[in-house]
Amino acid sequence: MTTTDTLNPELDAAAAAKQAEKKAALEINKLSKRLHRQVGQAIGDFNMIEDGDKVMVCLSGGKDSYALLDILINLKQRAPIKFDIVAVNLDQKQPGFPADVLPTYLKSRGVDFHIETQDTYAIVKRLIPEGKTTCSLCSRLRRGILYRVAGELGATKIALGHHRDDIVVTLLLNMFFGSRMKGMPPKLVSDDGKNVVIRPLAYVAEEDLVRWAAHREFPIIPCNLCGSQENLQRVQVKAMIREWEKKYPGRVDNMFTAMSNIVTSHMMDRELFPFQTIKATGAPMPDGDIAFDEDEACGSGAPTAPSVIKLHRNDD
Ligand code: SF4
Repeated sequence: MTTTDTLNPELDAAAAAKQAEKKAALEINKLSKRLHRQVGQAIGDFNMIEDGDKVMVCLSGGKDSYALLDILINLKQRAPIKFDIVAVNLDQKQPGFPADVLPTYLKSRGVDFHIETQDTYAIVKRLIPEGKTTCSLCSRLRRGILYRVAGELGATKIALGHHRDDIVVTLLLNMFFGSRMKGMPPKLVSDDGKNVVIRPLAYVAEEDLVRWAAHREFPIIPCNLCGSQENLQRVQVKAMIREWEKKYPGRVDNMFTAMSNIVTSHMMDRELFPFQTIKATGAPMPDGDIAFDEDEACGSGAPTAPSVIKLHRNDD
């Protein structure tokens, strides 16, 4: 403690508070830059938004979709291309849903929006016996309604708020419980073939979205109004990767980046690599089999062999 501290404790406390405030502002500034850069990068890498697009942003009232809309509004103002945004919320008539929250927020942001009201809650309650999981019917109904609304609004893209952690968790869920290596695509045609679905938050860590939502004070609507439990397997896998991340920081990012660095010759999908017809060439193969050796490149190097499908390198 300095002489000044002892003599002016109030002054000292004020200086410390000012310092903390400055540090917090710097952190938020860094976070804002990172979020906007990652979203811009994902959009560019996958050509998610093109000139003249009308992007329908699906808004649930949760932190992720608020952040998605918020960042897209900001990017739209400085993008070199012109595109429109329309925010859409599906009011499923869940008990206690605060119907005024989203319209009030959206008006304050000056963004075009549409609230679609459909009592899917009643349909689900009528068709699914008490105690059974309602999510699969509920989300199927929601999907169909949102596709229809996209068509009615003339939207050319449907933007969803899934982030990096959702993508990694989906990959693990599919591996653990579905026996397939399948994640969640950043961009894909919808299953009805009529829409292009994009996930501009694909490169964003959930932790950053939590901090951004708190900073921006989004009026979050609770996600448990329907009374249904979140998928237990998803909850478990999420908890598992959170534990890994605590013990070995950077693992989630590595798993995520691995999804863009697929070495098909070292997997077992005969559709993706012609195992049945390969022959020794006599020439060295940089990505050939290394027999009994450990793979030194594990997690450290950029694969370069032709059998690598390279989509994205996360340099954040
Ligand atoms: S948690 Fe509720 S609102 Fe969400 S999909 Fe399941 S039933 Fe529908």
